[in-house]
Amino acid sequence: MTPGLIDCHTHLIFAGDRSREFELRLEGASYEEIARAGGGIAATVAATRDAGADELLGGALARLDRLIAEGVTTVEVKSGYGLNAEVELRLLALARRLGRCREIDVLVTFLGAHAVPPEFAGDPEGYIDLLRRDLLPQIAAGGLVDAVDGFCEGIGFSPGQIRRLFGTARALKLPVKLHADQLSNLHGAELAAEFSALSADHLEHTDEAGVRSMRRSGTVAVLLPGAFYCMRETRCPPVESLREHGVPMAVATDCNPGTSPVTSLLFVMNAAALQFGLTVGECLAGTTREAARALGRLGETGTIEPGKWCDLAIWDVERPAELVQRIGFNPLFARIRRGR
Ligand SMILES: [Zn+2]
Repeated sequence: MTPGLIDCHTHLIFAGDRSREFELRLEGASYEEIARAGGGIAATVAATRDAGADELLGGALARLDRLIAEGVTTVEVKSGYGLNAEVELRLLALARRLGRCREIDVLVTFLGAHAVPPEFAGDPEGYIDLLRRDLLPQIAAGGLVDAVDGFCEGIGFSPGQIRRLFGTARALKLPVKLHADQLSNLHGAELAAEFSALSADHLEHTDEAGVRSMRRSGTVAVLLPGAFYCMRETRCPPVESLREHGVPMAVATDCNPGTSPVTSLLFVMNAAALQFGLTVGECLAGTTREAARALGRLGETGTIEPGKWCDLAIWDVERPAELVQRIGFNPLFARIRRGR
């Protein structure tokens, strides 16, 4: 028996299909080339804006059911494929609805700063201003989200733009987290730490200074081996340094239509072990205790302790290591969420 599993980083709600992009990447195109040619996030944004609520909900529930079938009792869901006020608000409402459609706790994250929308091409500052002026106050007042996220990268937003966004979010008492240092080292880990972020996620290019600043701020490192695997990246996050400095490490699917079309937390545990060198104990803690910590929910779930929610997964295995070792194997015997 383990605590119910927790997937602390997903982009579960989207429309469209990115398998053509997968073929192009196999033929040699880079993620940046695809992004600059209108593929990548932009393609999913176009499809998501066109989709109706039923289509979006149906697709997300199908993916959510795969996670639930592996014993997941808490999941984080980000917006970020609308990139305008109307569709972002619709995605946030749909994310909340997922938690009423299934026996699962859903934490909702606003990722308006996922990419620069076509309406603001060449004017990312103008878009950040829109998020800060119009959207964040409305979102905070309505209690629509549990956290605010951003994509700090050459093809996303600069550290200066994220800093302005996070300044507004924190002033509105919204916790933050960041897609940091995935493709290059823009010192996203330090930036996240500066705002006492719940987590900094990806971190393939984070250096020692970044790790130290995360340690000081208590920011959790969320490792995403699904994206690393699907993008055939070669540079691993600094696991030894994170371990040495005592930075908690969580592991998540990053479920999204392009760079990590993954709906198995058991698979990413295996990938975290084999690609990043995590131990079995770290993989299990990374999808339970540390994932709860990354969501600010360690007081409620993530460990089996008196006073917490009774979120459990019961497995038909001889040893816990089987959950990490075996691939394409789902030995879930029973899943209990809040005692039921
Ligand atoms: Zn992500």
